[in-house]
Amino acid sequence: MDILAQTDVRRAFVNSSRSRTAAVTFPQQWPPADAAEVDFLAWADPKAPQRAYLVVAPPVTDETVAVELRLGESAGPRRAAHCDWCHTQDAAAGSRLVVAPRAGSRGRSGNSVGVYVCTDFGCSERARRPLKAHQRSVSGAPDLRVEELAERVGHFVARVLGEA
Ligand SMILES: [Zn+2]
Repeated sequence: MDILAQTDVRRAFVNSSRSRTAAVTFPQQWPPADAAEVDFLAWADPKAPQRAYLVVAPPVTDETVAVELRLGESAGPRRAAHCDWCHTQDAAAGSRLVVAPRAGSRGRSGNSVGVYVCTDFGCSERARRPLKAHQRSVSGAPDLRVEELAERVGHFVARVLGEA
């Protein structure tokens, strides 16, 4: 995805107040080293561990969108922890519930959208790993994991925006 300036990201929040947006703590390294090879950026706020942020940009969405997330408990490594975005259960720390208040008045009245996502938000890298032999299609169907990941993340953002 395109590299975004922090001021642009702050301006792109759709479900957060101006004061909360101003208080967002970015990762020490910005943009992250792998920004060019991912379908979204997401990180937990180093100063507010229950808060996280998701940033998506074209082509996943029409324009740059930033979403404030609330983090639930990790399902933990012992439980099969299927990720709703990359459809793997490979994250070492499992997946955890991530909840986004919806944009606008619906969000203010408590309406939210939740998904289980890899705790480390490493879905983009997982979707690009070489397929294991048993995962390859016998019929030669194309590997659409990256496209499907982008579609699922885009759908999540559309739900936050009330468009889906
Ligand atoms: Zn994932």
